[in-house]
Amino acid sequence: MSELELYAADEQAMVDLGGRLAAATAGMGVIYLHGDLGAGKTTFSRGIIRGFGHVGAVKSPTFTLVEPYELDDVRVYHFDLYRLVDPEELEFLGIRDYFEGDALCLVEWPERGAGVLPKADMDITISVQGAGRALRFQAHSPRGTAWCADLAIGR
Ligand code: ADP
Ligand code: MG
Repeated sequence: MSELELYAADEQAMVDLGGRLAAATAGMGVIYLHGDLGAGKTTFSRGIIRGFGHVGAVKSPTFTLVEPYELDDVRVYHFDLYRLVDPEELEFLGIRDYFEGDALCLVEWPERGAGVLPKADMDITISVQGAGRALRFQAHSPRGTAWCADLAIGR
């Protein structure tokens, strides 16, 4: 399954859905998060990161560009590239080290890093729909396809 659309009626549903995706990924892969400011990219990321056992806050790393989470069995790198001026900046950040090895990379505003960012296993596009949010999942690899299938089962 390479495409799926789900609805999260409120913030808690969003976090729960993130937790389900966390379980599906087992902590490896690359996810791009699309959507306007306030769509819910960080909320969904928080759900994923909490899904791996993180109990503290999860904020958009708008100024630092990346926030690492070292959890029990997995490493999650949460990027927010909103303020990235030039994709080349990612080279100075040592981008390759983050994407090599067994980690899960979540990237808000990936279009700002076009040409330098590694390809995603899955694009997630979040949009406001009524009082909640519509989430569109698009897989681009066998790994992403398996995640989609897992999410569909729990629907
Ligand atoms: P972004 O990172 O896309 O800018 P945030 O996650 O920081 O967005 O903020 C999204 C806002 O929308 C927050 O106030 C959050 O409480 C709210 N929100 C997130 N998901 C949902 C949802 N499924 N339904 C209703 N409100 C939501
Ligand atoms: Mg954000």
